[in-house]
Amino acid sequence: MPINIQPILNVMQSILQSVGQVNNLLPPSILPPSLLPPSFIAPPIAEGILYTEMSIPVPQPPGVTGLPPNVYFDVSNLFTAAQKQKIRDSISGTMFNWFLHMSQKWNGGLNNGLSQMAACTNTYAAQNLKPIWYFGTPITNGRQATELAMDQFTQMIKDNGFRQSPRSRIDWTYIPNIGSFIITTMHATTAFIPIRVPLSATVNAYQLDQPNVTLGPLIGSMFHAWLHRAGFTDPKTTSYFISECPMCVMRGYQPKSPLLPDNLFYQFFD
Ligand SMILES: [Zn+2]
Repeated sequence: MPINIQPILNVMQSILQSVGQVNNLLPPSILPPSLLPPSFIAPPIAEGILYTEMSIPVPQPPGVTGLPPNVYFDVSNLFTAAQKQKIRDSISGTMFNWFLHMSQKWNGGLNNGLSQMAACTNTYAAQNLKPIWYFGTPITNGRQATELAMDQFTQMIKDNGFRQSPRSRIDWTYIPNIGSFIITTMHATTAFIPIRVPLSATVNAYQLDQPNVTLGPLIGSMFHAWLHRAGFTDPKTTSYFISECPMCVMRGYQPKSPLLPDNLFYQFFD
């Protein structure tokens, strides 16, 4: 049965509008991805090189020290320039949501703020609240899980940007949907360790080319992939943290609507 995608397009538009509403908080480097400066593209070191390095500016939230200026990805040259731009925007958008959480949690220096991401996720996430490598103080709710996950994003950004982790690769695949069923959008494996984790993923070029797969779903898909790199586990279904947190991101942290069933969102997760 075909899925009416108009509602999700409306949601994505509202996400972009909500992003626009916080532009005054942001340095120019993380204004909407379309306004980001062109990437630094490392010159090929040899004919026939398979990957080209992409450099993406790291937004700098207050209270988070020791961040690198950029993160780096070896992006397969099988992607077109337009597809690479969408990958860049997905990663920038993922870091934007991390930035917004860290900024709101910092709360002017008190570091006790309840971010919109944590508040939304706390409402919906109840299962698989901790990374696979985590054996610390028990994580009992979605707010704690969100704060742990975003702190792990900080670690992964530092390890990447200071080149402590193995190089992060964005690999190419091309798998058409079957009817309206999405086989894959962005796939990442679950990391079993908390340090020096590359932010690698395999991205479906077919999905990048679909006009209805706008930036909102792509950011949600990349955000979900990064949660796997942070050690969180599927299933990608309702009430599980690895779905509810990126679904909050895709809804612009707004409550769920009965008009937009969860599977419209998590069909973009791998
Ligand atoms: Zn998954």
